[in-house]
Amino acid sequence: MKKHNFSAGPCILPQEVLLKASEAVIDFNNSGLSLIEISHRSKPFIEVMENASALAIELLGLEGKGYKALFLQGGASTQFLMAAYNLLETKAGYLNTGTWAAKSIKEAKLFGDVVEVASSKDANYNYIPKGFTVPSDLDYFHCTSNNTIFGTQIKEFPTSPVPMVCDMSSDIFSRTLDFSKFDLIYAGAQKNMGPAGTTLIVIKEDVLGKVTRAIPSMLDYKNFIDKDSMFNTPPVFAVYTSMLTLQWLKDLGGIAAIEKENEKKAQLMYSEIDLNPLFKGFAAKEDRSIMNATFNLVDESLKDTFDALAKEAGMNGINGHRSVGGYRASMYNALPLSSVAALVEVMSELERKA
Ligand code: PLP
Repeated sequence: MKKHNFSAGPCILPQEVLLKASEAVIDFNNSGLSLIEISHRSKPFIEVMENASALAIELLGLEGKGYKALFLQGGASTQFLMAAYNLLETKAGYLNTGTWAAKSIKEAKLFGDVVEVASSKDANYNYIPKGFTVPSDLDYFHCTSNNTIFGTQIKEFPTSPVPMVCDMSSDIFSRTLDFSKFDLIYAGAQKNMGPAGTTLIVIKEDVLGKVTRAIPSMLDYKNFIDKDSMFNTPPVFAVYTSMLTLQWLKDLGGIAAIEKENEKKAQLMYSEIDLNPLFKGFAAKEDRSIMNATFNLVDESLKDTFDALAKEAGMNGINGHRSVGGYRASMYNALPLSSVAALVEVMSELERKA
Protein backbone atom coordinates (compact mmCIF):
# COMPACT_ATOMS: atom_id res chain seq x y z
CA MET A 1 0.00 0.00 0.00
CA LYS A 2 1.32 3.47 -0.89
CA LYS A 3 1.75 5.42 2.35
CA HIS A 4 0.40 8.89 3.08
CA ASN A 5 3.71 10.67 3.45
CA PHE A 6 3.50 13.52 5.98
CA SER A 7 7.23 13.49 6.67
CA ALA A 8 8.84 16.86 7.40
CA GLY A 9 11.68 16.04 5.05
CA PRO A 10 13.04 14.38 3.07
CA CYS A 11 9.49 14.18 1.92
CA ILE A 12 7.09 13.29 -0.82
CA LEU A 13 7.88 14.05 -4.48
CA PRO A 14 5.40 13.81 -7.38
CA GLN A 15 5.07 10.25 -8.65
CA GLU A 16 5.86 11.25 -12.24
CA VAL A 17 9.06 12.94 -11.08
CA LEU A 18 10.15 9.78 -9.25
CA LEU A 19 9.46 7.72 -12.37
CA LYS A 20 11.39 10.00 -14.70
CA ALA A 21 14.28 10.31 -12.25
CA SER A 22 14.51 6.54 -11.86
CA GLU A 23 14.50 6.05 -15.65
CA ALA A 24 17.34 8.59 -15.97
CA VAL A 25 19.40 6.69 -13.42
CA ILE A 26 19.34 3.70 -15.77
CA ASP A 27 19.53 5.47 -19.13
CA PHE A 28 19.67 9.24 -19.39
CA ASN A 29 17.87 10.52 -22.52
CA ASN A 30 18.67 7.32 -24.47
CA SER A 31 22.37 8.10 -24.16
CA GLY A 32 23.29 4.59 -23.07
CA LEU A 33 24.67 6.09 -19.86
CA SER A 34 23.17 6.73 -16.47
CA LEU A 35 22.49 10.31 -15.40
CA ILE A 36 24.90 9.70 -12.54
CA GLU A 37 27.63 8.48 -14.90
CA ILE A 38 27.67 11.30 -17.43
CA SER A 39 30.09 14.19 -17.20
CA HIS A 40 28.69 17.29 -15.60
CA ARG A 41 30.60 19.17 -18.31
CA SER A 42 28.67 17.37 -21.05
CA LYS A 43 26.10 19.33 -23.05
CA PRO A 44 23.09 17.33 -21.78
CA PHE A 45 23.96 18.04 -18.16
CA ILE A 46 24.81 21.69 -18.77
CA GLU A 47 21.30 21.96 -20.23
CA VAL A 48 19.85 20.39 -17.08
CA MET A 49 21.62 22.94 -14.88
CA GLU A 50 20.55 25.81 -17.13
CA ASN A 51 16.95 24.63 -17.18
CA ALA A 52 16.79 24.10 -13.43
CA SER A 53 18.16 27.59 -12.77
CA ALA A 54 15.90 29.22 -15.34
CA LEU A 55 12.81 27.43 -13.98
CA ALA A 56 13.59 28.52 -10.41
CA ILE A 57 13.96 32.17 -11.46
CA GLU A 58 10.85 32.02 -13.64
CA LEU A 59 8.64 30.39 -11.00
CA LEU A 60 9.72 32.97 -8.42
CA GLY A 61 8.92 35.79 -10.85
CA LEU A 62 12.48 37.10 -10.77
CA GLU A 63 13.34 37.16 -14.47
CA GLY A 64 15.32 40.24 -15.53
CA LYS A 65 15.70 41.47 -11.94
CA GLY A 66 19.41 40.78 -11.43
CA TYR A 67 19.06 37.44 -9.65
CA LYS A 68 20.98 34.23 -10.17
CA ALA A 69 19.85 30.76 -9.07
CA LEU A 70 22.55 28.40 -7.82
CA PHE A 71 22.44 24.74 -6.89
CA LEU A 72 25.05 24.10 -4.19
CA GLN A 73 25.84 21.37 -1.70
CA GLY A 74 26.06 21.28 2.09
CA GLY A 75 22.37 21.71 2.87
CA ALA A 76 20.66 24.79 4.21
CA SER A 77 22.87 24.40 7.29
CA THR A 78 25.91 25.43 5.24
CA GLN A 79 24.00 28.53 4.16
CA PHE A 80 23.78 29.58 7.81
CA LEU A 81 27.53 30.24 7.69
CA MET A 82 27.96 30.96 3.98
CA ALA A 83 25.48 33.84 4.06
CA ALA A 84 27.35 35.41 6.98
CA TYR A 85 30.76 34.71 5.44
CA ASN A 86 29.79 36.61 2.28
CA LEU A 87 27.65 39.40 3.72
CA LEU A 88 28.48 40.10 7.36
CA GLU A 89 31.11 42.81 7.72
CA THR A 90 30.15 44.40 11.04
CA LYS A 91 26.61 43.70 12.27
CA ALA A 92 23.61 41.66 11.16
CA GLY A 93 20.06 41.37 12.51
CA TYR A 94 18.26 38.06 12.95
CA LEU A 95 14.65 37.17 13.68
CA ASN A 96 14.68 34.25 16.11
CA THR A 97 11.63 32.12 15.34
CA GLY A 98 12.85 28.62 16.06
CA THR A 99 15.54 25.98 16.10
CA TRP A 100 16.79 26.67 12.58
CA ALA A 101 16.85 30.43 13.10
CA ALA A 102 18.80 29.90 16.33
CA LYS A 103 21.30 27.75 14.46
CA SER A 104 21.76 30.44 11.82
CA ILE A 105 22.36 33.00 14.60
CA LYS A 106 24.99 30.78 16.19
CA GLU A 107 26.93 30.56 12.91
CA ALA A 108 26.65 34.28 12.13
CA LYS A 109 28.18 35.14 15.52
CA LEU A 110 31.44 33.66 14.24
CA PHE A 111 31.68 36.51 11.72
CA GLY A 112 30.51 39.68 13.48
CA ASP A 113 27.97 41.23 15.82
CA VAL A 114 24.50 39.74 15.75
CA VAL A 115 21.42 41.54 17.03
CA GLU A 116 18.30 39.49 17.71
CA VAL A 117 15.75 41.90 16.29
CA ALA A 118 12.89 39.93 17.87
CA SER A 119 12.34 36.45 19.26
CA SER A 120 9.52 34.08 20.15
CA LYS A 121 11.70 31.82 22.28
CA ASP A 122 9.73 32.93 25.38
CA ALA A 123 6.78 30.79 24.24
CA ASN A 124 8.70 27.85 22.77
CA TYR A 125 8.43 29.53 19.36
CA ASN A 126 4.68 29.05 18.97
CA TYR A 127 4.20 32.46 17.33
CA ILE A 128 5.88 34.92 14.96
CA PRO A 129 6.99 38.18 16.62
CA LYS A 130 5.37 41.29 15.16
CA GLY A 131 5.63 45.04 15.49
CA PHE A 132 9.44 45.21 15.48
CA THR A 133 11.56 47.52 13.39
CA VAL A 134 14.57 46.38 11.42
CA PRO A 135 17.46 48.74 12.31
CA SER A 136 19.10 50.52 9.40
CA ASP A 137 22.70 50.07 10.58
CA LEU A 138 22.85 46.37 9.73
CA ASP A 139 24.69 44.63 6.90
CA TYR A 140 21.56 42.51 6.42
CA PHE A 141 18.44 41.17 8.13
CA HIS A 142 17.87 37.41 8.26
CA CYS A 143 14.59 35.57 8.79
CA THR A 144 13.11 32.08 8.38
CA SER A 145 9.92 32.12 6.33
CA ASN A 146 8.54 28.85 7.69
CA ASN A 147 9.49 27.17 10.95
CA THR A 148 9.34 23.50 10.08
CA ILE A 149 9.54 22.24 13.65
CA PHE A 150 7.06 24.59 15.31
CA GLY A 151 4.59 24.99 12.44
CA THR A 152 4.65 28.78 12.23
CA GLN A 153 5.03 30.86 9.10
CA ILE A 154 5.68 34.54 8.44
CA LYS A 155 2.60 35.91 6.67
CA GLU A 156 3.80 39.48 6.35
CA PHE A 157 7.48 40.20 5.99
CA PRO A 158 8.83 43.38 7.59
CA THR A 159 9.94 46.29 5.50
CA SER A 160 13.69 46.13 5.67
CA PRO A 161 15.98 49.13 5.12
CA VAL A 162 18.87 46.68 4.64
CA PRO A 163 19.24 43.59 2.38
CA MET A 164 16.90 40.80 3.45
CA VAL A 165 18.12 37.19 3.64
CA CYS A 166 15.61 34.40 4.06
CA ASP A 167 15.80 30.70 4.83
CA MET A 168 12.85 29.35 2.81
CA SER A 169 13.79 25.69 3.15
CA SER A 170 10.35 24.49 4.10
CA ASP A 171 7.99 26.70 2.09
CA ILE A 172 9.74 27.78 -1.08
CA PHE A 173 7.51 27.41 -4.16
CA SER A 174 4.44 26.86 -1.97
CA ARG A 175 2.89 30.35 -1.90
CA THR A 176 3.01 33.54 -3.90
CA LEU A 177 5.22 36.26 -2.45
CA ASP A 178 7.02 39.26 -3.80
CA PHE A 179 10.33 37.44 -3.94
CA SER A 180 12.10 40.58 -5.13
CA LYS A 181 11.91 41.83 -1.52
CA PHE A 182 14.73 39.42 -0.74
CA ASP A 183 18.38 39.77 -1.71
CA LEU A 184 19.32 36.22 -0.79
CA ILE A 185 17.01 33.24 -0.50
CA TYR A 186 18.18 29.74 0.32
CA ALA A 187 16.37 26.43 0.62
CA GLY A 188 17.45 22.84 1.03
CA ALA A 189 15.90 20.83 -1.80
CA GLN A 190 14.40 18.07 0.28
CA LYS A 191 10.98 19.57 1.03
CA ASN A 192 9.43 21.16 -2.02
CA MET A 193 11.97 20.47 -4.73
CA GLY A 194 13.97 17.27 -4.82
CA PRO A 195 16.18 14.82 -2.98
CA ALA A 196 18.60 15.99 -0.28
CA GLY A 197 22.00 16.81 -1.73
CA THR A 198 21.44 20.22 -3.22
CA THR A 199 20.43 23.61 -1.88
CA LEU A 200 18.86 26.30 -3.98
CA ILE A 201 20.34 29.76 -3.56
CA VAL A 202 18.68 32.72 -5.24
CA ILE A 203 20.91 35.72 -4.96
CA LYS A 204 20.82 39.29 -6.15
CA GLU A 205 24.30 39.75 -7.47
CA ASP A 206 24.74 43.34 -6.30
CA VAL A 207 24.56 42.28 -2.65
CA LEU A 208 28.04 40.75 -2.94
CA GLY A 209 31.52 42.28 -2.82
CA LYS A 210 30.97 44.32 0.34
CA VAL A 211 32.97 42.34 2.90
CA THR A 212 36.71 42.78 3.32
CA ARG A 213 37.60 39.29 4.56
CA ALA A 214 39.08 36.60 2.32
CA ILE A 215 36.48 33.94 1.54
CA PRO A 216 37.51 30.31 0.89
CA SER A 217 36.72 29.40 -2.73
CA MET A 218 34.09 26.78 -1.92
CA LEU A 219 32.18 29.23 0.30
CA ASP A 220 32.31 32.19 -2.05
CA TYR A 221 28.99 32.77 -3.89
CA LYS A 222 30.86 34.72 -6.56
CA ASN A 223 32.78 31.63 -7.66
CA PHE A 224 29.58 29.67 -8.13
CA ILE A 225 27.90 32.57 -9.95
CA ASP A 226 30.84 32.87 -12.33
CA LYS A 227 30.86 29.12 -13.00
CA ASP A 228 27.06 28.63 -13.23
CA SER A 229 26.99 26.39 -10.11
CA MET A 230 29.77 24.23 -11.53
CA PHE A 231 32.81 25.50 -9.68
CA ASN A 232 33.22 21.86 -8.64
CA THR A 233 31.26 18.70 -9.49
CA PRO A 234 27.58 19.43 -8.79
CA PRO A 235 25.18 16.87 -7.28
CA VAL A 236 23.82 15.83 -10.66
CA PHE A 237 21.01 13.56 -9.48
CA ALA A 238 19.63 16.08 -7.00
CA VAL A 239 19.78 18.89 -9.54
CA TYR A 240 18.12 16.82 -12.27
CA THR A 241 15.31 15.67 -9.98
CA SER A 242 14.81 19.23 -8.77
CA MET A 243 14.55 20.35 -12.39
CA LEU A 244 11.84 17.73 -12.98
CA THR A 245 9.87 18.95 -9.95
CA LEU A 246 10.15 22.57 -11.03
CA GLN A 247 8.93 21.59 -14.52
CA TRP A 248 6.04 19.67 -12.89
CA LEU A 249 5.14 22.78 -10.91
CA LYS A 250 5.30 25.00 -13.98
CA ASP A 251 3.04 22.59 -15.90
CA LEU A 252 0.53 22.69 -13.03
CA GLY A 253 0.28 26.46 -13.37
CA GLY A 254 3.15 27.59 -11.13
CA ILE A 255 3.17 28.78 -7.55
CA ALA A 256 -0.27 30.47 -7.72
CA ALA A 257 -1.88 27.15 -8.70
CA ILE A 258 -0.16 25.04 -6.05
CA GLU A 259 -0.88 27.71 -3.42
CA LYS A 260 -4.62 27.12 -3.92
CA GLU A 261 -4.12 23.39 -3.33
CA ASN A 262 -1.92 24.04 -0.31
CA GLU A 263 -4.56 26.32 1.18
CA LYS A 264 -7.26 23.68 0.72
CA LYS A 265 -5.09 21.08 2.47
CA ALA A 266 -4.23 23.44 5.33
CA GLN A 267 -7.84 24.47 5.78
CA LEU A 268 -9.02 20.87 5.97
CA MET A 269 -6.29 19.98 8.44
CA TYR A 270 -6.72 22.96 10.74
CA SER A 271 -10.52 22.77 10.78
CA GLU A 272 -10.25 19.21 12.09
CA ILE A 273 -7.68 20.29 14.70
CA ASP A 274 -10.04 23.08 15.84
CA LEU A 275 -13.32 21.14 15.71
CA ASN A 276 -12.18 17.82 17.13
CA PRO A 277 -12.16 18.19 20.95
CA LEU A 278 -9.47 15.54 21.31
CA PHE A 279 -6.81 17.70 19.65
CA LYS A 280 -5.33 21.14 20.12
CA GLY A 281 -3.12 23.11 17.74
CA PHE A 282 0.36 24.19 18.85
CA ALA A 283 0.98 27.36 16.82
CA ALA A 284 -0.83 30.68 17.29
CA LYS A 285 -3.75 30.67 14.85
CA GLU A 286 -2.72 33.72 12.86
CA ASP A 287 0.79 32.34 12.34
CA ARG A 288 -0.12 28.80 11.34
CA SER A 289 2.01 27.31 8.61
CA ILE A 290 0.31 25.96 5.50
CA MET A 291 3.19 23.49 5.18
CA ASN A 292 3.60 21.99 8.67
CA ALA A 293 0.59 21.64 10.99
CA THR A 294 1.62 20.96 14.60
CA PHE A 295 -0.90 19.59 17.09
CA ASN A 296 -1.18 17.61 20.29
CA LEU A 297 -3.65 15.26 21.90
CA VAL A 298 -5.56 16.90 24.75
CA ASP A 299 -5.48 13.58 26.62
CA GLU A 300 -2.10 11.87 26.12
CA SER A 301 -3.54 8.53 27.26
CA LEU A 302 -5.16 8.24 23.80
CA LYS A 303 -1.76 8.21 22.11
CA ASP A 304 -1.44 4.45 21.61
CA THR A 305 -4.96 4.17 20.17
CA PHE A 306 -4.41 7.11 17.81
CA ASP A 307 -1.00 5.84 16.71
CA ALA A 308 -2.43 2.39 15.98
CA LEU A 309 -5.29 3.85 13.92
CA ALA A 310 -2.87 6.07 12.01
CA LYS A 311 -0.53 3.19 11.29
CA GLU A 312 -3.36 1.01 10.05
CA ALA A 313 -4.48 3.79 7.69
CA GLY A 314 -0.97 4.06 6.18
CA MET A 315 0.14 7.36 7.76
CA ASN A 316 3.87 8.05 7.65
CA GLY A 317 5.91 10.71 9.42
CA ILE A 318 3.26 12.33 11.62
CA ASN A 319 5.23 12.30 14.88
CA GLY A 320 6.04 15.77 16.15
CA HIS A 321 9.60 16.99 16.63
CA ARG A 322 10.90 16.24 20.14
CA SER A 323 10.92 19.95 21.05
CA VAL A 324 7.15 20.22 20.48
CA GLY A 325 5.93 16.65 21.04
CA GLY A 326 2.58 15.50 19.73
CA TYR A 327 2.10 15.41 16.00
CA ARG A 328 3.17 17.27 12.87
CA ALA A 329 1.52 16.85 9.50
CA SER A 330 3.81 18.22 6.81
CA MET A 331 1.80 19.04 3.71
CA TYR A 332 4.37 19.90 1.07
CA ASN A 333 3.48 20.63 -2.55
CA ALA A 334 3.37 17.03 -3.76
CA LEU A 335 1.14 15.75 -0.95
CA PRO A 336 -2.36 15.19 -2.36
CA LEU A 337 -5.48 16.57 -0.67
CA SER A 338 -6.70 12.96 -0.40
CA SER A 339 -3.85 12.19 2.05
CA VAL A 340 -4.98 15.05 4.31
CA ALA A 341 -8.56 13.80 4.04
CA ALA A 342 -7.33 10.34 5.10
CA LEU A 343 -5.54 11.76 8.16
CA VAL A 344 -8.58 13.83 9.11
CA GLU A 345 -10.67 10.67 8.86
CA VAL A 346 -8.34 8.92 11.34
CA MET A 347 -8.70 11.85 13.75
CA SER A 348 -12.51 11.71 13.46
CA GLU A 349 -12.45 7.95 13.97
CA LEU A 350 -10.58 8.48 17.24
CA GLU A 351 -13.29 10.91 18.34
CA ARG A 352 -15.99 8.35 17.51
CA LYS A 353 -14.16 5.64 19.45
CA ALA A 354 -13.09 7.67 22.48
N1 PLP B 1 16.16 25.49 7.71
C1 PLP B 1 14.93 24.98 7.84
C2 PLP B 1 13.76 25.91 7.91
C3 PLP B 1 14.76 23.59 7.89
O1 PLP B 1 13.52 23.08 8.01
C4 PLP B 1 15.88 22.74 7.82
C5 PLP B 1 15.72 21.27 7.87
O2 PLP B 1 14.66 20.73 8.08
C6 PLP B 1 17.14 23.33 7.70
C7 PLP B 1 17.25 24.69 7.64
C8 PLP B 1 18.39 22.48 7.62
O3 PLP B 1 18.48 21.95 6.35
P1 PLP B 1 19.62 20.95 5.90
O4 PLP B 1 19.32 19.65 6.54
O5 PLP B 1 19.49 20.95 4.41
O6 PLP B 1 20.93 21.51 6.35
